[in-house]
Amino acid sequence: IQRTFSIIKPDATKRNLTGAINAKIEAAGLRIIAQKRIHMTKAQAETFYGVHRERPFFGELCEFMVSEPVVVQVLEGENAIAKYRDVMGATDPAEAADGTIRKDFALSKGENSVHGSDAPETAAEEIAYFFSGLELV
Ligand code: ATP
Ligand code: MG
Repeated sequence: IQRTFSIIKPDATKRNLTGAINAKIEAAGLRIIAQKRIHMTKAQAETFYGVHRERPFFGELCEFMVSEPVVVQVLEGENAIAKYRDVMGATDPAEAADGTIRKDFALSKGENSVHGSDAPETAAEEIAYFFSGLELV
């Protein structure tokens, strides 16, 4: 059993898509074991996306992530990291497979509705950044 970290991004929370996205997560066999709505600070967004600091879209990405509240989640299941990335679909919704979250809901490569961890190490770091051990049951 594995855990991954997810964010339902501002474009999705703003359009009331949290429930529709959670339905796809649960239909894929992933369990939502922790979830809360937060409004990220600029500093939190910049730290969270620190690996992308040199990318041309970094400023725009951080502005977007603080533009509205987001829903942060911990998902648990067999192969949760890879499974959730399958459920999310490609970064660019134009390239995302049918039935994926990004295909159905994302607006663009930037406003793409969800984040999911890409490896076990980043999943552990990202979960610990937003949740305390007591919140994970
Ligand atoms: P995430 O890390 O959010 O799960 P990802 O792993 O599919 O998505 P990354 O390459 O890690 O994509 O990029 C992180 C995020 O930065 C993307 O989800 C998207 O919101 C934004 N992003 C990536 N590429 C671009 C781009 N060319 N223009 C604008 N925003 C982008
Ligand atoms: Mg990524």
